[in-house]
Amino acid sequence: MKLYNTLTRKLDDFKPIKPNFVGIYSCGPTVYWNQHIGNMYAYVQWDSLVRTFRYLGFKVKWVMNITDVGHLTSDEDSGEDKMEKGAKREGLSVWKIADKYIQQFKESLSALNITPPDVMCRATEHIQEQIDLIKKIELNGFTYHTQTGLVFDTSKFSAYAEFSHLNLDQQYAGARVEVDSEKKKPWDFLLWVTNQPNHIMQWDSPWGKGFPGWHIECTAMSTKYLGEQFDIHTGGKEHIPVHHTNEIAQAYGAFGRQTANYWLHNEWLMFDGQKISKSLGNNVLVGDLINKGYNPLTLRYLVLNSHYRTGLNFSWKSLEGAQTALNRLYDIVSELKQRLDLNGENKNLSEPEEEKKWQQKFVEALENDFNMPQALALAWELIKSNLSDQEKYALLLDWDQVFGLNLAQNAKLKIQNFEYQAEKSKVLIISRSKLTQDLLKLIDERELARQAKNFSKADQIRQDLESQGFKLKDQEGKILINKK
Ligand SMILES: [Zn+2]
Repeated sequence: MKLYNTLTRKLDDFKPIKPNFVGIYSCGPTVYWNQHIGNMYAYVQWDSLVRTFRYLGFKVKWVMNITDVGHLTSDEDSGEDKMEKGAKREGLSVWKIADKYIQQFKESLSALNITPPDVMCRATEHIQEQIDLIKKIELNGFTYHTQTGLVFDTSKFSAYAEFSHLNLDQQYAGARVEVDSEKKKPWDFLLWVTNQPNHIMQWDSPWGKGFPGWHIECTAMSTKYLGEQFDIHTGGKEHIPVHHTNEIAQAYGAFGRQTANYWLHNEWLMFDGQKISKSLGNNVLVGDLINKGYNPLTLRYLVLNSHYRTGLNFSWKSLEGAQTALNRLYDIVSELKQRLDLNGENKNLSEPEEEKKWQQKFVEALENDFNMPQALALAWELIKSNLSDQEKYALLLDWDQVFGLNLAQNAKLKIQNFEYQAEKSKVLIISRSKLTQDLLKLIDERELARQAKNFSKADQIRQDLESQGFKLKDQEGKILINKK
């Protein structure tokens, strides 16, 4: 399995710390507002990573945080407190705002068939863990005090700029309002914020009443649930220069080493070439797609067609295209199922090596930095291949453990069984096609002829029906009929 590791800037062979086990931590949402489809893009991609490992036989523990604590900050130690802004906007308490938008986020996860993370941890429920971690960092001599709080001293960590490959002086040049002008370097960051009497969320700490800086929650919670060293840390590419750089610095300060062996970053979903933002009015939600009549898995299908490091340019037209393709896929799977029901299994199987080859190609796509577009393209190739219906159906359903498109369930929904108790012959007629009364009568006639051993008449009727495009199969007192 190869994964593109931001630490090394190349595709690295994945080596788990424990055999057959993968610990994955994903930076989760800040729950001050709705999560739009751009936010959800990342979670579909990381869900594919989790599903890939599980498919390949790994046991996975997936941990995701929920940032529900107010910060002074957007990404850095500047800007408005998002939680308090949300509370003011809606006339609700910060706690109610968090609950409301956690609910919205969970509904979006479920609509997109994203596997629920094994642990979803809220920052406000892990204040003690954050304090304990900061104490370690302080004890190891990586901090200094200002009027605003306890600051991480990046000059104590010489590799600070390595992860982001950025020139810090350039990155931090220009007019940025510093909340804490006493900081030695603009990129030093607050671990614990004090002296903010107007801030609503406050906790006691060794450094005074206040609240944690943003970055500390991820280091505290990832190591709590996955250990000081774990396998994979994921997040959006915007996290590389500040949030993840600071997480690495904090872990170095606390443990003398950084936490994750592989850092994975996703590109963004753009909307008609623009970044999604509330001010542009293009912050479409998963709920909006549902209200417009789309199956939300259409968005999942569209996202899977983009590699996580390429990103996706979303447009209504591309969503339309995805809907057509996904519906076609559902139709194909349900047709395969119907033909299998009608014709039975174990017919015209290919050589066992043939099926294995397809399986091998699928695994190759997954092991290639979990390349979902490649895996999906393979599914379409498989459909056109010479494999038997039975093999195609089995492979598609098997692969859907990774795709998460609910192929089996949707195929079942498509097959609307029509049952009719024939009046005279008392057989049950099961049809997957619309049958007229005349046709039903004819089928009944045929059964009566068969029972009277008038096989030439029965055959004649069967041929009539076939010429009208219906295929019949007799099965234990039932007749299955399907449109050819
Ligand atoms: Zn994070």
